[in-house]
Amino acid sequence: MFPDSNSRSAALFGRAQQVMPGGNTRLQVHFPPHALYVSRGSGCRIEDVDGNSYLDFINNYMTLIHGHAQPDVVRVLGEQAARGTCFAFPTESEIALAELLCGRVESFDSIRFCNSGSEAVMFAVKAARAHTGRPMIAKCEGAYHGAYDAVEVSFDTHPDRWGNRPARVAYSRGTPEKTMQDVVVLPFNRTQESLDILAGYTETLAAIVIDPMPPRVGFVQAHRAYLEALRAFADRHGVVLIFDEVACFRCGYGGMQGEVGVRPDLTTLGKIIGGGMPIGAVAGRREVMAVFDPSHGKPAAPHSGTFVANPMTMVAGWQAMELLTREALERLAGLGTRFRDRVTAAFEESGSSGQVTGYGSLWKLHMNRRRFIDFRSVYADEDERARMGDLYLRMVNRGFLMGSTGLIALSTAMGEEDIDAFAEALLSALRDARDGVPAAA
Ligand code: PMP
Repeated sequence: MFPDSNSRSAALFGRAQQVMPGGNTRLQVHFPPHALYVSRGSGCRIEDVDGNSYLDFINNYMTLIHGHAQPDVVRVLGEQAARGTCFAFPTESEIALAELLCGRVESFDSIRFCNSGSEAVMFAVKAARAHTGRPMIAKCEGAYHGAYDAVEVSFDTHPDRWGNRPARVAYSRGTPEKTMQDVVVLPFNRTQESLDILAGYTETLAAIVIDPMPPRVGFVQAHRAYLEALRAFADRHGVVLIFDEVACFRCGYGGMQGEVGVRPDLTTLGKIIGGGMPIGAVAGRREVMAVFDPSHGKPAAPHSGTFVANPMTMVAGWQAMELLTREALERLAGLGTRFRDRVTAAFEESGSSGQVTGYGSLWKLHMNRRRFIDFRSVYADEDERARMGDLYLRMVNRGFLMGSTGLIALSTAMGEEDIDAFAEALLSALRDARDGVPAAA
C-alpha cells in the first residue's frame, strides 16, 4: 500500500530530506508524505524499490513514447557510450536527427538543439526578439512553457488574482517587475478578447507563444479559428508566432501543427525527440532561424551549451523517432480513442462527476463535467483537487501510475489489454470512492 512509512521508499525519502530541500529536486514528483522511488522500468511497466509493479501511464510526463528501456534505444545508447558520451565537436548524429525532424514537418526549414523544453522556449523567445528587435512576448493564461521567468508569468494564477482581463501574475516570488511588464497575457481560445488585448502591442511585440494543446489547460485544444487569428495578427504586425509543441508534438506525424493545419514561424520541441534523454529544440522558418547563424560573425542570438546535441541524446532521439512511424502513431491514436471511450464509460457507470479530455496519446482526467474552453473553465477547485488526489492514490494502489493531477501519456509499448485494465481499475476506484471505502488501508 502507498503511502507506507515502513517502506523502502519512505526510508529513501528520509535520506533525501537530509540533502535536498524537502527531500526533492523536481517539484512535479513531490508527493506527501513520501515519494515513490523507482528501481527499474521496462516497456509499459515500472517497478518500485519495494518490489511493487505498476503500469506506467505517465511515461516521464509525456517523454517516453515507446515506454521504458526500448531495446533499440538501449542498444544505440550502449554503442554510443562505448564511443564517448560528449565532445567539444559536433557529431554526425546531430545531423541525422535534424534531417529526420526537418523532413517530417513542413514549417521546419532548420533546427537547433538544446537540453530541455524550457531552454527551447527561452531560445525561441531570444530568436524572436533578435529577429524583430522588440522586447515583448504574449502567452496564454494557464499555459506552462517551462522554467524561464517571462513565460512563467500567469501560468498558475489563483482565481483571487484573475482579474477581468488576464492579469500578469508572477509564478516565482521576486520575479522582477520589469520581466512582468514584458509579458502580455491572453485568454486562451478567446479570439476577440485576445485580439483586443494584442492590438495595444503591435509595435512592441516580438512573439506570441502558444501551445496548441496545453497540459496545464487540461489538454483542451486551441480552436483552429483561434490559431488562425493569431497567425493573421502575427503576419500583419511582423510578430513571430511560436508554437510550443514540447508536449503535444507526439500527437501527429507532423506534430500538432500538422493536425490543426496552422503553420507557426518557430516551434519548440522536447520530450519525445530525445528518446528518453534530456533534449530541447527550436525549429522553424529560415529567416528567423538565421539569428543563430554564426557564419558571418557573432550571431544576433548566440546559442551554445556544454551538452547541446551530445551524441547520447542524438542517437537515442533518432532511434525513438525512427520507430515512431506513421503506422506506429496511428496505432497509438487508436489506443487513445479506446482509452477515451473506456474512461468515459467508467465515469458514467460509476455515476461519478468526471470526464476526459485530450487527443492522440495525451489525456487528462477531470473530476467535473463542465464545458471547457480556457484555463478558467478547466481550473479545478479545492473539492475537485481533493477528489483527484484521492483517485490518484486509489489508482497507485491498484498498480496504475498517472500524473497526480490526472495527466495520462500513452506509449507504443501498451496494448489494448493495458487500456482496458486501466479503465477497469478506474471504475473500481471510482466505485470505492463513491462508497466511502478508504483509499489507503
Ligand atoms: N513547454 C511545455 C508545453 C511543457 O509541457 C514543458 C514541460 N512539461 C516545457 C515546455 C518545459 O520542458 P522541460 O521540462 O523539458 O524544461
